[in-house]
Amino acid sequence: MQRRTFLAASTAMAATTALPALAQQTGANSLSQPWTGRFGGVPPFDKVKVADFKPGLEAAMAQELAEIDAIANNPAPPTFENTIAAMERSGRAGDRVGLMYSIWGGTLSTPEVRAVEKEMEPKLSVHSDKILQNEKLFKRIEAVYEARDKAELTPEQQRLTWVRWNSFVRSGAKLTPQAKARIGKINEELAGLFTTFNQNLLADETDYVLYLTADDVKSLPADVRDAAAAAAKEKGKDGQFAILNTRSSMDPFLTYSDRRDLREKVWRTYYSRGDNGDAHDNNAGIKQILKLRAERAKLLGYPTHAHWRVENAMAKTPENTMDLMMRVWPSAIERVHQEVAEMQAVADKEGAQENGKAIKIAPWDYRYYAEKVRGARYDLDMNSVKPYLQLDKLREGMHWAAGQLYGFEFIPVTGLPVQHPDVTVWEVKRAGQHVGLWYFDPYARTGKRSGAWMNAYRTQEKFDGKITTIVSNNANFVKGAPGQPVLVSWDDGVTMFHEFGHALHGLNSDVVYPGVSGTRVARDYVEFPSQLNENWLPTPEVLNKFAVHYQTGKPIPPELVAKIKKAHTFRQGFDVTEYLSSALIDMKLHLAGDADIDPRAFEKDELAKLGMPAELPMRHRTPQFGHIFAGDGYSAGYYSYLWSEVLDHDAFEAFEEAGGAYDKATAKRLHDKIMSVGNTVDPADQYRAFRGRDPDVKAYLRSKGFPT
Ligand SMILES: [Zn+2]
Repeated sequence: MQRRTFLAASTAMAATTALPALAQQTGANSLSQPWTGRFGGVPPFDKVKVADFKPGLEAAMAQELAEIDAIANNPAPPTFENTIAAMERSGRAGDRVGLMYSIWGGTLSTPEVRAVEKEMEPKLSVHSDKILQNEKLFKRIEAVYEARDKAELTPEQQRLTWVRWNSFVRSGAKLTPQAKARIGKINEELAGLFTTFNQNLLADETDYVLYLTADDVKSLPADVRDAAAAAAKEKGKDGQFAILNTRSSMDPFLTYSDRRDLREKVWRTYYSRGDNGDAHDNNAGIKQILKLRAERAKLLGYPTHAHWRVENAMAKTPENTMDLMMRVWPSAIERVHQEVAEMQAVADKEGAQENGKAIKIAPWDYRYYAEKVRGARYDLDMNSVKPYLQLDKLREGMHWAAGQLYGFEFIPVTGLPVQHPDVTVWEVKRAGQHVGLWYFDPYARTGKRSGAWMNAYRTQEKFDGKITTIVSNNANFVKGAPGQPVLVSWDDGVTMFHEFGHALHGLNSDVVYPGVSGTRVARDYVEFPSQLNENWLPTPEVLNKFAVHYQTGKPIPPELVAKIKKAHTFRQGFDVTEYLSSALIDMKLHLAGDADIDPRAFEKDELAKLGMPAELPMRHRTPQFGHIFAGDGYSAGYYSYLWSEVLDHDAFEAFEEAGGAYDKATAKRLHDKIMSVGNTVDPADQYRAFRGRDPDVKAYLRSKGFPT
């Protein structure tokens, strides 16, 4: 996943007409000031007070509106420089305050932070609409856009002009004042609903904790048990074992616990998040969100929200996304049926029973019996891999691989302010030159949202002097006992490489304007560099050097690596179906127009129509689908992972065809045509320039072991 600050690229505003007097009057504070210190300034995490967010945001919004008015009311005829470039300079104070506000919301949330979010999210939405619906400003943008061929603009300037013009048109710039006002109202209401959705989810993840005894957890591997003990201790229940209601806690428990009753309990609790009929239930909010989105799409002239969302992505139409998904779906569920049959055979052979009856594989059995099949068929116990996967070593490994591919060097930096003592900072250099900074915030803690993501604290640009990027990777690894190395699962290792791929997309950026820099690309393209980067974890070069046993220091045995490779297509039925069912429901919900939707019934009916196997759930059930209901970002966009993955496998085959994962010429082409160009070139053109042709789905199907 990849995350943006709220004043995102679409409305990136900045500061030519710096207005310090106004800023002081309206209560600007240290959070909105230009960053100071080394590396062209660094985020002032040590100066953040939650009480400063509200006045800081309000002052920054006022400042930005003044900057925008100055651009819109400029008496000179509109040019790229006095309109588009001027907009690139505006809103910088808001970017700075907004960044801190979003980091606190995502990684250090408290009741105080949540109260500020409740109040400010709708206001920020109104603010963004004020800019996007500024008539005079749009007239100027349109004039520059229409004259773009005659004005001797560079290709990047033309592209940026299109990006700006397109985002204004898509926000309703051409509509009547009444329609614009209604869209503004809808956006404001949605912003409030998104915040509530997110806070409900966070509450259900935080509030439901299962405390177990030593006897209950004796079948768990030692490190999973230790993590559960540490989590209980943190919650004041020393001597017990806490299974948190998060994916990183649920997943290993369901994989290894031989207590079927407890597996069912943990499963039900996790997949009921946001769906408990209590104060944190999300169903009513979802209904409203879908209605409002449908109404907005209609006003903007699109049949449905899905059409509106996908139009400016690489896929262009919802039909293209459905075609791709339905091309893969039958193979995925067919594979699930095979996997279930194999697991049932294991359970039968073991004589597994409940209440005196032979068990039938249920969703809370899938991970557990799949692990047994893996052990039997591939002689591979993923838990035997874990002692070789130390968090710190894997981090070194991904740094090393980035060195091979892009010439980067990572140097630890101390003494910079960070938002939490767990965060470490690294300077990134290439050929001795400073490229940027990389912040790493690896551990779960109370108030941090679940999952893993990348955040760009500052994007690369060079139109008013060179500004280097600052990126971060954030995850929820469970911190081990003090002094013990943190061992992670293979999947966690893949996730690390994934998020680092987003960071590399930001670090490689070499463009002129921030609005088209780094990861500010189409939603279904942004996951391509990150998913591509996952391919370097299983290379022997990384494994032999960095997958070393935490006690003996010996590299992972070649036999074990061979087994991992052999088991590569294992459980793909589960993984692909779990994901695709979510992506399909997302698209169907947003293709349904303004139909009156009961989320629970809709999910059930549509899954039945798709032939969803009963033995597994969607990866994100509707009431907990933060990607699509905690914001607009991934709505009608969860398909993006598949879209990007098709590119990823097809692109990695280019390395294999050229002789291997570290082929220098292919790496250079990847850098030149994709990693460095941000959104200055249309994604389909970027891909063709790299691959010499359009993407082909066959590489993806091969990678899953599905028929092509
Ligand atoms: Zn991602």
